[in-house]
Amino acid sequence: MKYNEMLDIIENSLEGNVHLDDLAKKKNDPFKILISTILSARTRDPCTIEATEQLFKTYNTPELIANADIEHLESLIKKSGFYKIKATRIKEVSKLIVEKYNGRVPQDFNDLMDLPGVGAKTANCVLVYAFKIPAIPVDTHVHRIPNRMGWIKTKRPKDTEKELKNLFSKDQWIRLNSIFVKFGQQTCLPTNPRCETCPITLKCPKIITINKKEQKKKNKSPLI
Ligand code: SF4
Repeated sequence: MKYNEMLDIIENSLEGNVHLDDLAKKKNDPFKILISTILSARTRDPCTIEATEQLFKTYNTPELIANADIEHLESLIKKSGFYKIKATRIKEVSKLIVEKYNGRVPQDFNDLMDLPGVGAKTANCVLVYAFKIPAIPVDTHVHRIPNRMGWIKTKRPKDTEKELKNLFSKDQWIRLNSIFVKFGQQTCLPTNPRCETCPITLKCPKIITINKKEQKKKNKSPLI
């Protein structure tokens, strides 16, 4: 079975949208997508959503965030964690967007990477979700799942991005992040993946390992 076909099967088993997809569908505001991606670092979706909405109720443009009181910014995004660093970051990013890009989020990977605190994952998220430009943002799910399924064998997110780009044609890149993120949240969880309900169990080497381990445990158990 081809990788694209497995991706289709996985996609059909999933529900809902990822947070950034929801943002893009409601009102495609690249600035909100960029800021929300920065706020999402090391936190869960519900906390990111709450912090983003709180912030954008008061400050919804680069100009407003650039000129906002830092302590007020911190209080609005507190829910996202690491709020002191994140408040400083979003203020710096907003200032640069106003000064260098006339208040508009750049659509170029290198320009995005030049923004303070913006790394490859965030830059690629903005390209994919805000501008629909083919890219592969590699977060924890995108790195873990294809490795677990034996599609690639990589240690660093940078290599994962490269390998996935070799595996999939460019027109497929844009869908990879949202499928793997949802799959990682709903089925192929970081610990205790729900292999019993997974639609590609028979194609996954991980399940073979799990079954072998369980079989070993049973063989050792004096109760059986
Ligand atoms: S079988 Fe289990 S480990 Fe493999 S992809 Fe499915 S949920 Fe993940």
